[in-house]
Amino acid sequence: MLLDALNRQDTLTVKDLLTEGGDGECQWEMSESRASTADLPQAKIYYCSFCLRPSDEVAKLVAGHGRIFICDESIATCNDYILTGKSDRPPRAPLEEAPTERLLSLLKPIEETVAGKSNQLQSAVETLRSRRVSWAHIGQALGISRQAAWERFS
Ligand SMILES: [Zn+2]
Repeated sequence: MLLDALNRQDTLTVKDLLTEGGDGECQWEMSESRASTADLPQAKIYYCSFCLRPSDEVAKLVAGHGRIFICDESIATCNDYILTGKSDRPPRAPLEEAPTERLLSLLKPIEETVAGKSNQLQSAVETLRSRRVSWAHIGQALGISRQAAWERFS
């Protein structure tokens, strides 16, 4: 289910996940286009793009475009903020203050998040090129020159 959604590049957003329940509390709404860690292949670890926790350490992991994911706890944090304008969760310490072992453990999740967005960007550019959109227009949209766009994406 998740891989199908990723292959179709379905848009799965936090907004889509929130519905107003009868008691006024936000609830999860799961449909076929949404996935959880139970749907992921066991050999591959995915990471929450917000808190960087691996899929085997969270209850649910929801996929978005470009293989960006958000876990149930990060969504709960978002819910808190959306509903109350603040979050009761303590702020995370800056990366510069993290112990070396913690920083080393974060490299793979950060790299996978960046790679996912990079793949999405490349795919979007390739789609635009297949529609005969010029390198000049693509470069303009990215704030770079036509030449820089061509060199980066061709
Ligand atoms: Zn998370």
